[in-house]
Amino acid sequence: MTFSNLGLCNPILQAIEDSGYTTPTPIQKQAIPIILSGKDLIATAQTGTGKTAAFVLPILEIFNKERTLRGKRIRALILTPTRELAVQVAANVTAYSKHLNLSSLAVYGGVDSEAQKQRLIEGVDILVATPGRLLDLAHQRALHFDELEVLVLDEADRMVDMGFVDDIYKIIDRLPKARQNLLFSATMTDDVRALAFEFSDSKTSNPA
Ligand code: AMP
Repeated sequence: MTFSNLGLCNPILQAIEDSGYTTPTPIQKQAIPIILSGKDLIATAQTGTGKTAAFVLPILEIFNKERTLRGKRIRALILTPTRELAVQVAANVTAYSKHLNLSSLAVYGGVDSEAQKQRLIEGVDILVATPGRLLDLAHQRALHFDELEVLVLDEADRMVDMGFVDDIYKIIDRLPKARQNLLFSATMTDDVRALAFEFSDSKTSNPA
């Protein structure tokens, strides 16, 4: 199977080629068609398996195909446990969307939030965030989730281990109910399953 068999558009295929990838990894082969079909997904995937591209590529495909009129509101929220992972995921989004007209931003704690707020005002399609800073910005009314289409929990087991479960529930409370939910975790513990159950619904597909 090739990336073009997966139904990705030419600007995304070009970015994949620019990144030097020739073949989709197993998680990409399994996850991309499910995500493109609009279903929820719970996947077990370790770091290093290509899991980031497995969710970023289909999100870009869907957003590129279905343009919104306003283009100022957040369409995808990707939650990560750490600032380092947020930066890394955002760098992937930037690389894979380089031939598309979609914007992305990473927000995380430990830095001044003014520049982040300014970028949010200008409009961001894909927001990558750590839970604490996200709630901070939400309390400051700097975030608008009324057009949110996709929620991704990346490294869900680490989020649980780091004590972010309550924050994640508070964030989910602020999101539209009709959305696509994607959860990636290196391990599938009872806590992660509970989180997945809480945030997802009967459309869930679990290929792992
Ligand atoms: P991840 O599991 O998302 O942390 O990705 C691990 C590494 O694999 C990253 O450096 C990616 O750039 C790279 N990668 C992702 N997908 C592919 C692919 N299909 N072929 C080769 N490398 C890839």
